[in-house]
Order: sequence, then structure tokens, then C-alpha cells
Amino acid sequence: MNKNKNQTKMKTALITGGAGFIGSHLCEFLLGKGFKVIAMDNLVTGDIKNIEHLRSNPDFKYIHHDVSKHIVVNEELDFVLHFASPASPVDYQKIPIQTLKVGSLGTHNTLGLALAKKVKYLLASTSEVYGDPLVNPQPESYWGNVNPIGIRGCYDEAKRFAEALTMAYHRIHKLDTKIARIFNTYGPRMRKDDGRVVPNFITQALKNEPITVYGNGKQTRSFCYVSDLVEGIYKLMISEINEPVNLGNPEEHTILEFAEIIKELAKSRSKIVFKPLPLDDPHVRCPDIKKAKKELKWQPVIGLKEGLKRTINGLRRIKITPS
Ligand code: UDP
Repeated sequence: MNKNKNQTKMKTALITGGAGFIGSHLCEFLLGKGFKVIAMDNLVTGDIKNIEHLRSNPDFKYIHHDVSKHIVVNEELDFVLHFASPASPVDYQKIPIQTLKVGSLGTHNTLGLALAKKVKYLLASTSEVYGDPLVNPQPESYWGNVNPIGIRGCYDEAKRFAEALTMAYHRIHKLDTKIARIFNTYGPRMRKDDGRVVPNFITQALKNEPITVYGNGKQTRSFCYVSDLVEGIYKLMISEINEPVNLGNPEEHTILEFAEIIKELAKSRSKIVFKPLPLDDPHVRCPDIKKAKKELKWQPVIGLKEGLKRTINGLRRIKITPS
């Protein structure tokens, strides 16, 4: 075999959920690293606009497909990255059955594809596997506190099943699998109507409308800027690690603090108002990232205010008319 030719062969990654928020940033990142990228999506929560700018790139291909159904990819692949899933509580509570299907059948189909192609596999899992955690921050060794029949169960249990299936493929079929436990991520291209706290607060602040804090606002979250997250995904994908790894930013704030920070950064006149706390809303969430730091030499570098400024500018561009 011609060694030089082999060395220069471009790697190809299939990204399910490639038109979604994180998926589209990952497509862009891997193209930048010299990969060929195939994005697969059924656009239930993703948006073709997120990848419109990539479609003229000859190394990029989009396939419209629901990964809960059998997947056919004719191209040679090197990586399968399974990011397809609704991820906002408002979205997945509207379509709980599709959410369970993409986490179970979609994970089965993508694992089967990776096995058939004999390639590496990465599952986009979530901090939601920890549920309403009784340990804070959450290390990977924590098993979680999930209500299987609650309104978040469709997402949490689908992802827990997805992790179990991924580990079974690793143990039984010796598939080289990776599991990223992704904590709250934010940045440009979040849908302004996806119901999550960052787009909600920014949209409200830019319109000078009331900022809706749920509960007393003392619950905490830790937000990671999307470019940091994608860098962590890449490091995990090319690593030798098969056990789950937390990826997130350990800077923890109360939701009330978030509201105040966003109000200040958006120079908003909004009032802060309190609304009922949704059922099973986790009281705390913060990643323990010792493992990612040690084994991947990864940690987030974008501070919250810098990341929020970029996100506010991104959302400003999609026409929010001040009232
Ligand atoms: N939240 C809020 N106001 C909103 C939207 C969300 O106070 O308009 C709270 C929500 O109750 C939760 C936190 O913000 O405590 C993060 O919610 P999000 O839906 O972004 O994601 P989660 O981390 O709960 O999956």
C-alpha cells in the first residue's frame, strides 16, 4: 500500500443531529480539522439554517433521515458521533416518545452502523443521567437520582439506556466507544424559542420583557460555551477512553444570578419575575471535570460573561424586536 497516500486520506465522520445546536458546531469544527463530514438529521428540533453555510463545502454532505429508523450510509466512515436528540426540557416533554426512540432505537442503529463499518463511536450523553443529584459537583462515578416516570424521564432514561447499550457494544462487540456526559451548553444557534434558560433570558432581556425565573431561582446550573464543549468532544473522540467523561464548565451559578448577569450584559430594563418551578427540576448541577482535565488535558477557557456576550450578539441577529 502507498504509505503517503494512506497518510493523507481524509477521515470521515457521520454526525447524527448534525443540524442541531451542538451538532452543527461540531460539523464546522471537524471540517476545520480536515475531516469529511456527513450530517444526518430529521430536523425535528434541528434547523437546516444551522448548516446552510457548510453546504457548498465539497467535504460536507447532509442526509435527511430519522436515525430511529434503519440507517444506510454508503460512504466509508472513520467515526460515528450520535448527537441526535431533542435536548431542551420543553422540546422533549412535547415529544417524549420520539425522544425515547432516538435515545434507544437511534442509539442501537448508530451503534450497529459503527460496528458494520468497524469505526469509533461517540455517544452524546448528558448530565441528566445524574437526575436531581444528591452529590455536588457530580463525578462520573455517581450513579444519579432519576425519576424514571417523571416528565424528564423520557430524556434521562433514554440517555441512561443509550449509555448502557453503548457499554454493551463495547464489552460484547469490542467496539471502540466513547461517552460524553455533556452539561449545560450555550452559544450562538440555540433556538430562541427552545425554552431553555439562556435563550429565554436573553430574548426577554433584549425585548425589555420580564425575565422569568422559575422557583426561587436558587437552583444552580453550570454553563459551558459551545466552542469549549466541541474541543472537549474532539479530544474525547480521538482518545483511548471508553468510560464516560464529564464535559462542562464547573463555574456554578444560581439561576437568579444568571438572570442578573444577562440583564446587565444586555443593558436591559427588564424586571425579574418568579414563576412556578417545573416538576423534577434539578436543584443543583455542576460537573466534576477532574477526569477530563487529567486524561484529555481539557478544560473550558471561555468565561461566562464573554460567552454570554457572543450568545447575545448571535441572538440579536435573529431579529428580536424590542417592545
Ligand atoms: N429556567 C428559568 N426560567 C426559564 C427557563 C428555565 O428559571 O425561563 C430554569 C429552569 O427551571 C432550570 C434552569 O433554568 O432550573 C435551567 O433550565 P433549562 O431548561 O435551560 O435546562 P435544564 O438544565 O433544566 O435541563
